[in-house]
Amino acid sequence: MKDRYNRTIDYMRISITDRCNLRCTYCMPQEITLTSMENILTYEEILRICNAAVELGITRFKVTGGEPLVRKGCVTLIREMKRIPGIEQVTMTTNGVLLGQYLEELISAGIDGINISLDTLDADRYERITGKNELSAVMENIGRAINSGIRVKLNAVLQNGVNEDEWEHIALLARTNRLDVRFIEMMPIGFGKNCRGVSGRELFEKMKTRWPDLETVEDIHGNGPAVYYHVPGWKGSIGLINAIHGKFCASCNRIRLTSRGMLKPCLCYGDTVDLMPILRGAAAGSKPDGNAGTDDMIRRAIAEAIMEKPAQHCFEQKEYVTEESQMVSIGG
Ligand code: SAM
Ligand code: SF4
Repeated sequence: MKDRYNRTIDYMRISITDRCNLRCTYCMPQEITLTSMENILTYEEILRICNAAVELGITRFKVTGGEPLVRKGCVTLIREMKRIPGIEQVTMTTNGVLLGQYLEELISAGIDGINISLDTLDADRYERITGKNELSAVMENIGRAINSGIRVKLNAVLQNGVNEDEWEHIALLARTNRLDVRFIEMMPIGFGKNCRGVSGRELFEKMKTRWPDLETVEDIHGNGPAVYYHVPGWKGSIGLINAIHGKFCASCNRIRLTSRGMLKPCLCYGDTVDLMPILRGAAAGSKPDGNAGTDDMIRRAIAEAIMEKPAQHCFEQKEYVTEESQMVSIGG
């Protein structure tokens, strides 16, 4: 459906857990208070929401986390989502640590693409950034994912003084591999507020200097705001997601669902529409029961969240950002 700024909203990001097996410095560097399992949407509830969302024209879904693969049954959820008539695409964002274990099952469940987060190619740095010594496992899993033929995108967040010097090496992964390497600007959400991200515009200037024949890719590669570039002869492309310096709100197509059942109209603001009272007939924490509201009520709540989407974010003015949750519980 269209929101009040005439934007078509056809994409939903679903965070299925706020738990994670890594501790990325800008996302969840230390333990946060995790939501108890009874306050997390069950898979049945998520599927109900997906069914309602499809009727409003939301046809593409991203499963995210925390780390989605740490939640038991994640593959079954994806299989069930793929069975919902009208759903055109289900993809996932993962840190890749457990991907090797689930890759075949994910593919047989029908997953349409996998985004893998990778901020560095250096093992020591990887451990400093994520708190875990998992780079070799992730690299191996990226290789396996590429070889499987599934569409793979890598997501890198560059930070000054941390990994900004690796932009070229990370980008070069797209030279010999059929994948998209995307650089995402650090957003002032949660721990990210105190990090010094790298401007995508500056990065673009460096890219043009380094590869003067860099060309803009016109065809749409995904659901999001990335602008893609291609160097002649390369197998893959480079994407820039300039959340701060390239405001793309006019073409925003998405809505987010947190694992606690909150619909988020915009990443930047704390406003939510709570689906729990409709799903459970009472507040979060209560068991799903026969008091639950109707599918029509779920649809109306999703439509309400869509209509509440603001015209734009205000990441460039941190003092107006009202979202107080950590990114780990929103899902990126
Ligand atoms: N655990 C999964 C992963 O790492 O891909 C999925 C969840 S994670 C929150 C999704 C994406 O958000 C990751 O690519 C991560 O780098 C990114 N992210 C986390 N905090 C961010 C921030 N403050 N600004 C920009 N991207 C952020
Ligand atoms: Fe976990 Fe992903 Fe956040 Fe890193 S970015 S802490 S892998 S949720």
